[in-house]
Amino acid sequence: MAFEKLDLDPLFAKIEELKPQFIDRLARAVAIPSVSGDELLRPRVVDMAHFLVSELENLGAHDIQLKDLGTQPPPVADASLQLPPIVLARFGADKSKKTVLVYGHYDVQPALKEDGWATEPFTMHHDEAAQILYGRGTTDDKGPVMGWLNVVEAHNALGLELPVNLVCCFEGMEESGSLGLDGLIAQEAQQYFLSVDTVCISDNYWLGTTKPVLTYGLRGCNYYQIAIKGPGADLHSGIFGGVIAEPMVDLVQVMAKLVDNKGKILIPGVDEMVAPLTEKEDALYDDIDFSVDELHAAAGSETGLYNNKKDILKHRWRYPSLSIHGVEGAFYGPGAKTVIPSRVVGKFSIRTVPDIDSAKLDKLVIEYVQKVFGELSSQNQLNVELIHDGAYWVSDPFNESFTAASKATEHVWNIKPDFTREGGSIPITLTFEQELKTQVLLLPMGRGDDGAHSINEKLNVSNYINGCKTLGGYLHYYGRQ
Ligand SMILES: [Zn+2]
Repeated sequence: MAFEKLDLDPLFAKIEELKPQFIDRLARAVAIPSVSGDELLRPRVVDMAHFLVSELENLGAHDIQLKDLGTQPPPVADASLQLPPIVLARFGADKSKKTVLVYGHYDVQPALKEDGWATEPFTMHHDEAAQILYGRGTTDDKGPVMGWLNVVEAHNALGLELPVNLVCCFEGMEESGSLGLDGLIAQEAQQYFLSVDTVCISDNYWLGTTKPVLTYGLRGCNYYQIAIKGPGADLHSGIFGGVIAEPMVDLVQVMAKLVDNKGKILIPGVDEMVAPLTEKEDALYDDIDFSVDELHAAAGSETGLYNNKKDILKHRWRYPSLSIHGVEGAFYGPGAKTVIPSRVVGKFSIRTVPDIDSAKLDKLVIEYVQKVFGELSSQNQLNVELIHDGAYWVSDPFNESFTAASKATEHVWNIKPDFTREGGSIPITLTFEQELKTQVLLLPMGRGDDGAHSINEKLNVSNYINGCKTLGGYLHYYGRQ
């Protein structure tokens, strides 16, 4: 190891010793079906918040607050449906120590045995032979949330002070758009979260199944639609075919000019905004544990656009992509319906990366679509617009928080972590960074094959227990700097 190792042996030994209690804590959490997307289960989401409060109290947390977020905005069946509270708690208030905010969510995705689960999703099943814990929320995100509590318990059992002040922020609506969280973070930035030095989020996964990772970037997404309107109603091609300007004909021609079938974005000026690849960044891709076969396995086909690991990862993480999603208003069923749709709406999105300027991108996209449509000299009407956007996030993987997490990971797993990004987004990452003006670290616990939103969600016991050591070790390495 190329760094000075801290003596964490007593802490790690205590975590091993407490393994049965930690597994039991996770089982008790999994048993509460805190499905935020199901209005009927909302009381159970609230139960889960109270479960956390009682665990936090038992562990000696102070200033525990349940932040009321009011009622859920529409669309919702019950207009008076309350949002689940955000649970805030503190451990320690020592001005000489750094303060780490840890974020996690206590709600989960829906799950029914009938969906194809091998065991009851809300009864944690411990497969002793394989050392795997099955159940909804084991990896997303109850395992990591219990992980932070476990770290505190291990310190308490040793009579050891935490090396930092810990601020917990646990939300109950993450799987349903994190309603209310942005506002709460802004509101508490100068209150509860004042003096937070850094933020650690444990709510994503290793890239693969064998090597730990630290995640330093997420792509953003700008979603657009192109509406083309012609006749006053849908028409019959036997009567109007050949004599009327068809919106669908215009739309396919416009959409064909957005991206080619090798993934190249055809809108001028987009690629020019992408940050150049530095040698230092390029080198990060060399050691990453990933293969072309993994892409093919995940996609269920051998139709990848790139034949080597580095190109695949770069195009997933650090280059933009344009995907065509669908056409609203078009005939899409089986059979041979001879309709001429009167109005069609094409949907596409661009995954964004540094240094794409979102407003400039919108302007480029809209003007380009208008130009391409103009060249068709169509009598139909065009309307192109942005319908949703979320910004990208990228951090410095060499900053002090990542450095501390890297040391902790290497200390626990005896291997340097891969530095990864993700092709999708976790919007809250950027909110924390901007509102608290701090660095954010994504420190995952589970593996890439955990099946977070799928059937038979699981967390390997080794990931849970070593994950606790890594979270705890991170606090020590970070607190020492
Ligand atoms: Zn999650």
